[in-house]
Amino acid sequence: MNRTPIIAGNWKMYKGGAAGVELARDVVRACGDLAGVTVVLSPPFTALAAVVHAVAGSRVEVAGQNLHPKAEGAFTGEVSAPMLLDAGCKWVIIGHSERRQLFGETDQGVREKTAAAMAAGLRPIVCVGETLAEREAGRTLEVVSRQLDAFVSVLAERPGFGTIAYEPVWAIGTGKVAGPEQAQEVHQALRQRLSSTDAKLAHVTHILYGGSVKPDNASGLLSCPDVDGALVGGASLDAGSFAKIVEASPSRV
Ligand code: PEP
Repeated sequence: MNRTPIIAGNWKMYKGGAAGVELARDVVRACGDLAGVTVVLSPPFTALAAVVHAVAGSRVEVAGQNLHPKAEGAFTGEVSAPMLLDAGCKWVIIGHSERRQLFGETDQGVREKTAAAMAAGLRPIVCVGETLAEREAGRTLEVVSRQLDAFVSVLAERPGFGTIAYEPVWAIGTGKVAGPEQAQEVHQALRQRLSSTDAKLAHVTHILYGGSVKPDNASGLLSCPDVDGALVGGASLDAGSFAKIVEASPSRV
């Protein structure tokens, strides 16, 4: 199975407004016309429409960083899947460890959001990952399997539409990256878990790696057989660094 690599930049709560538009334009200039890789930018909500406008006509696509599972309602401060689509997004990040740790997101909540995104036609990038304590206790595969089990049946409703991101919590924003063997071990286990639901699902589902991906470690990670791209935080805030990661995708080298 040839899964076209996906490189997604998670800008977190950085680069709103004009700074986001400038970064998006720089990314388009640096890698907006590259074939053989899907490039996704995930700005803060306030910059979504402007970034969609800035990337129009290029191959770059746009993601929200979160969504509410309901389509509309009295949920102050929230944004729904139809609203993200309306703003021009094709993707949404769900269950990022910062959402799970700082905002109390549960496996059940992640499932509901994934279902809402899929039902609306928004491609989810659903994050899983263990903490340092869980890894040190030898519980990595148990934890990521539990997190995946919560939403796998939703992904199975439309195989290949949803994407998983394995992001070890200890590697996010810390500069500590999982080595290619560590990443491959977990990605392979996740794919095996997918295949126990549905063999086709396992073949067509992208599993991205995230956690301190930088230009100098990207090619080692991206060349692992079960690593189908990257979810990039810090390095996505610099167009040059992000473009180097895009260029390190196997189909680009
Ligand atoms: C992330 O925020 O999803 C992430 C992986 O961050 P960083 O690349 O900075 O570790």
